[in-house]
Amino acid sequence: MTSEHNPIVLPLPERRRFLSWGVGTALALALAVAPVLARTGERSLAFYNLHTGESLRTTYWQDGRYLPQELAAVNHILRDHYSNEERPMATALLDLLFDLQQRLDLRQPFEVVSGYRSPATNAMLRERGSGVAKHSLHMVGEAIDVRLPHGQLEQLRHAAYRLHDGGVGYYPHSRFVHLDVGRVRRWRG
Ligand SMILES: [Zn+2]
Repeated sequence: MTSEHNPIVLPLPERRRFLSWGVGTALALALAVAPVLARTGERSLAFYNLHTGESLRTTYWQDGRYLPQELAAVNHILRDHYSNEERPMATALLDLLFDLQQRLDLRQPFEVVSGYRSPATNAMLRERGSGVAKHSLHMVGEAIDVRLPHGQLEQLRHAAYRLHDGGVGYYPHSRFVHLDVGRVRRWRG
């Protein structure tokens, strides 16, 4: 469940498709990735942690300000469930999830397969041969593995691709999408 293979950047068929796109497609893509995050109002997220059974609905941002107490609750539900360690999750990652939620008009919580991973947990998973990256962004609170209650894995993956913002790993067999706010790359697990 926690596997995270090393990225294989853009499989060849996708690269060909990308190169064959015309100007019209490029324009459509530019419109598709235009930011939808408003500067006022609220940003809310809902999580269900598959390992601990915990749920959280939170408004973590309001009128231009991240709310520290709410961020603390997010850090807690996304903690390393092996060691119970927490660390601040990147607010950019939360905004990425919020953006995807808006674009896909999601009403259900994100189901969390893996949030923060301590270095010890990451090393343990690597020893198990789970295909976990040595310098995983999970260890710095910049990555999350999620699925949606009613499938929609393909939609989530493609919406994340369209954002063209950070890493997107697609794991159809384990039924989750890895999202991070590192450099732009794509892979399939
Ligand atoms: Zn991951």
